[in-house]
Amino acid sequence: MSYTITTTTVTKSKIEALDFNNIPLGKTFTDHMFVCDYDNGQWVSPRIEPLELIPTHPAAMALHYGQAIFEGMKATIHTDGRPMLFRPEKNAARLNLSADRMGMPHIPEALFVEALKQLVALEKNWIPPQEGSALYLRPFMYADEPFIGMRAATHYKFMIIASPSNPLYSKRIKLYAETKYIRAANGGTGEAKAAGNYAAAIRPTELAKAKGYDQVLWLDANNFNYIQEVGTMNIFFKINGEIITPNLDGSILHGITRLSVIELLRSKNYKVIERPIAIEDIIEAARNGSLEEAFGTGTAVGIAMIEEIGYKNTVIHVSKESPTGKMVLDTLDGVRSGKMEDKLKWMTHIKA
Ligand SMILES: *Cc1c(COP(=O)(O)O)cnc(C)c1O
Repeated sequence: MSYTITTTTVTKSKIEALDFNNIPLGKTFTDHMFVCDYDNGQWVSPRIEPLELIPTHPAAMALHYGQAIFEGMKATIHTDGRPMLFRPEKNAARLNLSADRMGMPHIPEALFVEALKQLVALEKNWIPPQEGSALYLRPFMYADEPFIGMRAATHYKFMIIASPSNPLYSKRIKLYAETKYIRAANGGTGEAKAAGNYAAAIRPTELAKAKGYDQVLWLDANNFNYIQEVGTMNIFFKINGEIITPNLDGSILHGITRLSVIELLRSKNYKVIERPIAIEDIIEAARNGSLEEAFGTGTAVGIAMIEEIGYKNTVIHVSKESPTGKMVLDTLDGVRSGKMEDKLKWMTHIKA
């Protein structure tokens, strides 16, 4: 099925005001947005319009009961001038996984990808050209039916907004392994990219920052023993030459960067093991010298090298050299800028 998206463009672009080398993080938006309504069991009126405020009824169910999910992805520009998306079909699948958990409707993959392609083609000039910079895309869905009462909404909006961004972290980061608060429990919503998960993480993250850390390292909800992930990143360790990352156990977000890093490393004959990782294993590996690397993976950050992890009264120090993390980061950036061959066929090219 193909979708007809109607487009209304702005009369004057705001792009002249943008300094591509100094983009205020998360506050700059392109001229247009994609909007689509779920009404009577169907997605209707897909359209691209000038970005503007959206009228919201005070009883819109997302505001009260939290049916709100999102995606995060990047468009980059090839050295040959063509815009590209990184594995958009994976984001479509994950949005629908989130929708399932939150009792929300699926978005057809073809509509999701077509909307992205048309929006990015229109906003092509907003894609920062520098390697590591990108046009961050934020597809999201929320319940906008006005209703007081606990049930799934019958009316939703699916939208995409776009925000140019420079690289997020250039320095190594410090993580605080949380032993009071949790992010996700068995049977909870940890696998969903659901707004409420982030609301629950804000206070613990503020407390970790007040202690001098950059992000929380979440441990399992049963007894704060197994490592889950970081704020908006999955986590990898290299111990004795092997790459390990927590297995997807129902509580951990299915990171597309995580998946891509695993595929890349396996294609280069690294041994990658997905398994439960106890925080004590990492402490022991650091103690006996076998902890070689630790890095986080996520769309927003790319690859973030980890400097240390604070856990109770212990500080785990990670070696400064992170050759595997650096190779992975260089490959992701290289493929996304077209400077490296896209061997694993990650990129979707857009005709603009
Ligand atoms: C989005 C996110 C990630 C990373 O997923 P990517 O698809 O790699 O961007 C990891 N953990 C959490 C909690 C996230 O929200």
